[in-house]
Amino acid sequence: MSSRQPIWSVAVPSPLRRRFDYLLPDDFTAVPRPGQRVEVPFGGRQLVGVLLQSLNKGSATPHNKLKSMVRVLDEEALLGGTLFRLLEWSSRYYHHPIGEVFSVALPTLLRKGGDLAYRGQRCWQLSDAALEVDPEQLKRAPKQRQLLSLLIEHRVLSDRQLNQHAKGWQAAMRLLREKGLVVIEQQPEIGQVAAEEVKELNSEQSIAVNDVVSGLSAFHPFLLNGVTGSGKTEVYLSIAEKVIEQGRQVLILVPEIGLTPQLVTRFQQRFAVPIALMHSGLSDQERLDSWMIARDGRAPLVIGTRSAVFAQMKNLGLIIVDEEHDGSLKQQDGFRYSARDVAVMRARLEKVAIVLGSATPSLETLYNVAQGRYRELKLTQRAGGAKPPKIEALDVRGQYMEHGISNALITRMRQHLGKSGQVLLFLNRRGYSPTLLCHDCGWSAECQRCDSHMVLHQREQRLRCHHCGKDERMVRVCPQCKSEQLRSIGQGTERIEEALQHHFPEYSIVRIDRDSTRRKGSLQAMIDGVHEGKHQILLGTQMLAKGHHFPNVTLVGILDAEQGLFSADYRAVERMAQQILQVAGRAGRAQRPGTVIIQTHHPEHPMLRELLEQGYTKFSSALMRERKETEMPPFTALALLRAESTDQALPQCFLSEVYQLAAAHQLPDVLLLGPVPSPMERRAGRYRAQLLIQTPQRGALHRLLERLLPQLEKSKLGRKVRWSLDIDPIEMY
Ligand code: ADP
Ligand code: ZN
Ligand code: ZN
Repeated sequence: MSSRQPIWSVAVPSPLRRRFDYLLPDDFTAVPRPGQRVEVPFGGRQLVGVLLQSLNKGSATPHNKLKSMVRVLDEEALLGGTLFRLLEWSSRYYHHPIGEVFSVALPTLLRKGGDLAYRGQRCWQLSDAALEVDPEQLKRAPKQRQLLSLLIEHRVLSDRQLNQHAKGWQAAMRLLREKGLVVIEQQPEIGQVAAEEVKELNSEQSIAVNDVVSGLSAFHPFLLNGVTGSGKTEVYLSIAEKVIEQGRQVLILVPEIGLTPQLVTRFQQRFAVPIALMHSGLSDQERLDSWMIARDGRAPLVIGTRSAVFAQMKNLGLIIVDEEHDGSLKQQDGFRYSARDVAVMRARLEKVAIVLGSATPSLETLYNVAQGRYRELKLTQRAGGAKPPKIEALDVRGQYMEHGISNALITRMRQHLGKSGQVLLFLNRRGYSPTLLCHDCGWSAECQRCDSHMVLHQREQRLRCHHCGKDERMVRVCPQCKSEQLRSIGQGTERIEEALQHHFPEYSIVRIDRDSTRRKGSLQAMIDGVHEGKHQILLGTQMLAKGHHFPNVTLVGILDAEQGLFSADYRAVERMAQQILQVAGRAGRAQRPGTVIIQTHHPEHPMLRELLEQGYTKFSSALMRERKETEMPPFTALALLRAESTDQALPQCFLSEVYQLAAAHQLPDVLLLGPVPSPMERRAGRYRAQLLIQTPQRGALHRLLERLLPQLEKSKLGRKVRWSLDIDPIEMY
C-alpha cells in the first residue's frame, strides 16, 4: 500500500453518521474532484461512495489502518456546486448519515456503480430526402401519408406518442423507413404543443406572474395561495415560459405524479421541449436518462416527486413546489426529509426564486408569510368564470343511514344525476369494512402482528391488515365460539360501491382506490372514463382528491370527514381541513356550479364551523392561535425519536436512556416529552415507543442532537432496538 497517495473523506452509504477516509487508488494519477464516485472496501464488501473532501492535514484514522479505494468511477464530478452544498446541509439539518443522503441524489444505476449510459426514447423524424416528398405522392398508402403529415407537424415523435396518434403505425413506418423517408434516433421525448390557445391571464394571475418574474434573479420565496381551480397551474406555465426563454431550467416538485398526471400533460402541451420526469413509476434506465438530461441541461423542465429536489441541474432558474402542504412531500422512512423545506434551502443556495403553491397552505408556510420571509400571491377567484362550490354540513345525527350513506345524501345525488351532473363520493378507507365482529361472543378479526383490526375485502374473500400487509382467507364461522353470526362493521369504499349499485342500478359507478387501480394503466383508464362521461358516479379515496379536473362533477359528498376532529395527532385538524377543501375543489370546476355535502355527526364542532363558515384563511388563523397557545409548530421545533423492537420493554428502556443523556446536557428551553408507547404500539410484530423533543429555539435542538447522537450510536441498548430520528415530524406515531 502506497503511503504517498492523498487521503480523501468519502460519503459511504452506511447507517453510521460519519465520513470515512480512504487513500486514492495506487494507480490513480488524475486530479480528483469532490462529487466523483468511487468504489471502496467497506466491511468485507465493496460500496459505491462519493468523494467529499481531500484531507491534506491527514486523517483521524491512523495511517496504517487506512485502506485504499478500489477505483475512481467517474472522470468528472457527478454531484457538484450548489447541489453538493445542499446535500451537506441536508445531512446536517436532518442529522442523517451523509452517505445515505448523497446516495439519494443518484439514480439507482449510478448508485450501483453503473456508467453514464444514456438510452433515451426511440424517436422518429423525417430524413432530408423526405423534405422533397409531397405527401400527395403517397395517396394510395393512407397510413404512410398520415405518418408523414404527423411528422411534418410534430417534427419528432416517440413510439409512445405514435401509439397515441396513430394506432397500428409500425408496419407503415417500416415502409417509410425502407424508402429512406424517416430516421430513428435515441433521444428525449419532446412535448407536443396542443393547438389550444394560451389563456389570457386574469389580473390576479398577471400580478402573480409579474411579481415572480421580476424576482427571478435572486432568492425570493413566494407562496401562491390560490383557491382550487383559480389557475395556479396556468401561473406556473407562464413563469416557466419566461425562465425557459432565458435558457434556464425549471424544477417542479409534485406530491405524487401518478395522481397528478394532468400537470405533466399540461407542461407537455405547452412546451415543445424535453421534460425530465423523476418518479417511482419509471424503470431504472428511464430514471438515469432523466437524470442525465437534467444534468446536462438538455431538459429545460424537470418534474418529479420528492427526491427530484436533489436532481443535479446545469442551469437552475426557478423551483416550483405544487401542493406544498401535502404530506407526501415528506419522506417517512430512512432519510426523513421534507422536499419542500429542502427546496427552499436549494433556492437560497442557488439564488433563485421559489414558488410554493397551494389552495390550503401549511401553517409553516403561512407563518413564514406572516413573518415577512415569504411573499404571498393570492388568487381569490376561480379562473374562467367557474363559481366556488357551496359547502354544506349535513347533520346525520339520528338519521337513517344505510352503509354509511344518509337518505338525504341519496336524494341529493339523485337530483344531480337527474340533471346529468356527475357525483363524486369521498371516503378515505378502502376495503369492505374495517371490522369483522362475532355477534354472539364479541370476537373480532385482529391482526396478530399489529394492534389493529383486519379489514374485510369481501369480493376477494380476504381479511387484510392495512398496516403490515398480512393477508388471510376470510373466516365464515367465529374461531372462538363457532357461531356463524359474523357481522361486518363500518364501511370502506367497496361496501359503499355495493350500496350505490343497489340505489343507482341505472348509473355506472367507478371506484378509484389502491385496490381497484393495481393494474398498470387502470387508473388512467378510469379517469378517461370519467372524462368521457362513461361513469356518472365516482367513488374513491384520496387518490381521487388530488389535482384532478372533472368539469362535469356538480356534487361532492364527503362521507367521513370528521375523524380528524378527534385524533391525538396535533396536525389532524389541519389535514382534515386540507382534505375537505381539496375534495371540495373537485366540484363545479367548469360552467355548472358545484355543491359539497359533508356528512357529519358534529355539525356544531367549532373548527368545522370555522372552516365551513369562514373559509380556510380564517380557519388557519384560528389554528395558528391554537398552535401558539399549545406551543406546537410552527412556534416550536420538534424532533421525534422512535424506537422499535420485538421485545416490548426494550424501546422504552432505550428511550429512557436517551432521556437521561439528553437531560444531562441541561440545555435551557428544551422539553423532553416521553418516552411513551406509540399510538399504535405494536405494528408488524414490533413494539414501538417514542420520545419527543420540543423547543422554541431550533438552534438548541441542533446543539442537543449534535451532542446526543454520537452517544446514542455508542449505546448498547441502542444496538438492540431499531431507532430513528425525525426532524420536523409530520406524523406523530
Ligand atoms: P389550479 O391549478 O389552481 O387548480 P388550473 O390552472 O388547473 O387551476 O385552472 C383551472 C381551470 O381554469 C383550467 O381548466 C384552466 O385551463 C382554466 N383557466 C386557468 N386560467 C385561466 C384564464 N386566465 N382564463 C380562462 N381559463 C383559465
Ligand atoms: Zn363468536
Ligand atoms: Zn398487521
